[in-house]
Amino acid sequence: MLARGAPLKITPPTHVEPPYLTATTGISDKFNRRFSETAAITGPLSRMWGAVVVGIGTAGAVRIRDMLNPLPGNAAEKLSVRGFISRRKLDSHQDVSQMSVEEALSREDVHAAFICTENDSHEEFVRKFLQAGKHVCVEYPMTLSYQAAVDLWDLAQKKGVVLHEEHIELLTEDYKQLKKEVEGKTLLEGSLHFTGGALKPGFGFLAFSGIARLCWLVDLFGELSVTAATFEQDADRGYTKMTAQLLTSDSRCLTWVEERQAGLPRTKKINFVFDGLVLTQIPPAPSGTVGLFMQDLVLFSSKLSGGVSPEELDREKTRILHCFELAERIQQLSHI
Ligand code: NAD
Repeated sequence: MLARGAPLKITPPTHVEPPYLTATTGISDKFNRRFSETAAITGPLSRMWGAVVVGIGTAGAVRIRDMLNPLPGNAAEKLSVRGFISRRKLDSHQDVSQMSVEEALSREDVHAAFICTENDSHEEFVRKFLQAGKHVCVEYPMTLSYQAAVDLWDLAQKKGVVLHEEHIELLTEDYKQLKKEVEGKTLLEGSLHFTGGALKPGFGFLAFSGIARLCWLVDLFGELSVTAATFEQDADRGYTKMTAQLLTSDSRCLTWVEERQAGLPRTKKINFVFDGLVLTQIPPAPSGTVGLFMQDLVLFSSKLSGGVSPEELDREKTRILHCFELAERIQQLSHI
């Protein structure tokens, strides 16, 4: 059993680079300054949001740990973990009790759900919790189809609750540094090639399981379109590779590759050619002192407290849905 505040031992992540597990209780001034503007607790101070975590794998365990030890002075402190849902009979995890889906849906002191299961069950859980009028934070990707994502946003709007899709890869220091480097430059052409271990069952087609990389490209270069896509597979070797040809709004070519096989190192290679500069490496940046999931928790809770502007929410929703549309088009062109 883990004492409150004790570090949680977690198996290495399969989806993001190690910095996501960096210190979660240290406070970075820069982080706090940035978030104090958007995440200051604007609701009544006594307000607590009861939350449940669905799926106790790597992400689910981190969610519980972070809610038990939130970043001080932020809206995340107003989240209180009431229980978790698992297919296994676990009784308790980090001193938090197990509950059934039915109990979580009906309890009035459960206001929010964190969906941390495999990708192919996200949609069903998100829909159930939204239907019950609960706020939802779902690990990316929210669904495995564009239309389902549109329907879920509509449902959240109808119910007047927050629907938040986690995107911790946009919060890494490496990415923030890359974004600074790219800002103001004119792209001529580019590529992003991701390699990683074999995908576990239930994580969906590569364009969806790797949607974080697509989000990078859209966040860096704006709206994109898909001109071609291919998919290669060697089931005997457990090898899969997706290659998507994308076009920026000013007709610059971008190639996005996702390649997976057991034993492949987790790497992202870039080659961005700008007018007067070629970026062949993601600029290294020291990892931040606040864990990535904790940053995401602060963002979600600041949405609950009304600390994020409607314009920002709208921008985020547009970006997310655009990425789903692209992922689906890539899947179609790959004949999957
Ligand atoms: P995981 O395989 O470690 O955990 C998934 C857990 O969900 C398992 O424990 C499984 O038993 C449980 N589960 C599945 N179906 C369930 C059900 N019907 N009811 C209750 N529990 C159920 O996977 P993970 O790495 O934690 O990833 C989970 C999600 O988080 C994925 O969507 C992934 O894309 C996302 N994510 C993970 C990371 C990471 O670093 N691990 C980072 C970002 C996003």
